[in-house]
Amino acid sequence: MRTLVTGAAGFLGSHLCDRLMKEGHEVIGMDNFITGRPENLAHLENQDRFTFIRHDVSDFIDIPEGGVDAVMHFASPASPNPNSPFGYVNLPIQTMKAGALGTLNSLGVARAYSARFLLASTSEIYGDPQVHPQPESYWGHVNPIGERSVYDEAKRFAEALTLAYHRYHGIDTRIVRIFNTYGPRMRQDDGRAVPNFIQQALAGKPLTIFGDGSQTRSFCYVDDLIEGIYRLLLSDEHRPVNIGNPDEMTILELAKTINKLLKNPAEVVVMPDKRGEGDPQRRRPDITRAQKVLSWKPTIGLEEGLQKTLPYFQENT
Ligand code: NAD
Ligand code: UDP
Repeated sequence: MRTLVTGAAGFLGSHLCDRLMKEGHEVIGMDNFITGRPENLAHLENQDRFTFIRHDVSDFIDIPEGGVDAVMHFASPASPNPNSPFGYVNLPIQTMKAGALGTLNSLGVARAYSARFLLASTSEIYGDPQVHPQPESYWGHVNPIGERSVYDEAKRFAEALTLAYHRYHGIDTRIVRIFNTYGPRMRQDDGRAVPNFIQQALAGKPLTIFGDGSQTRSFCYVDDLIEGIYRLLLSDEHRPVNIGNPDEMTILELAKTINKLLKNPAEVVVMPDKRGEGDPQRRRPDITRAQKVLSWKPTIGLEEGLQKTLPYFQENT
């Protein structure tokens, strides 16, 4: 299979390229480096089956001779942190363009070559959820003009467009709703909770808790997520599928786990004003569908996943 991965130089995109290469695909990686980095793909540069194209997916996408069999659209800023230059709140137009025009152009490629298409969607389409845990049947609770709407609404539009291409043009589409995922190659400075906390603990500084730390998340290790996504690509499932780890914890618990692992005596500092507008209070995936249709469930617990993640941050700080 020849597969186009947009957002290939990002955290998830680069791990996805690794998996596809391992499975024998010919991979075309595409990225404009707005939040990703060439280092994430450096190890693939000289491999025969890998090609990189520097390109903004919001513009028309040209595919090298030979076409593609699959398109996996991962290009989008992904961090909600307004305190980071890489947070989507600070890249609002680029984020909406990647979700809207980027999805349109990627679907156009899939249509031109009769390729299958997989959209990287997100738990953010559920907004600040009023149903808990979140099954795929939940329509969500999103403020269409809130700070996070540039991301949430772009992804909701992307899902609608994907289904429109499926229903109207008969494109063989898939949608994965990704819940919080962490691992090596996350940007140290994109402001998400796991990289922020690891960086702070490594420096012996207090971990910054936004709000009172009672908000919950469920963290999935990247290898588990990529396994679920690869199974979805090979499946015939056209409905959205949640992929994430249902092990829910408060942000304060996450911080304490990281401090304990890294023996950081500095503990935490509570910053009530730093919590972004619309920051969901609770989040946990209902993974019944993934279990049924993909026979998938996560296998790596938080402490094991953090142990696998730490060396990257130790080497790249
Ligand atoms: P990331 O920022 O590390 O990767 C995104 C990549 O997309 C970057 O390399 C960036 O340069 C590239 N990109 C952005 N806009 C582009 C454009 N217009 N043209 C070309 N490239 C562009 O983030 P990530 O965590 O790897 O997220 C990847 C995808 O997964 C995103 O679509 C995100 O919405 C989705 N997602 C991630 C998570 C998570 O927990 N990591 C959760 C939900 C959804
Ligand atoms: N958070 C925090 N301190 C940080 C970074 C994030 O308390 O230094 C909180 C953030 O407010 C949110 C949660 O951790 O409630 C998860 O944030 P993240 O940016 O990882 O992603 P989100 O799940 O909000 O998309």
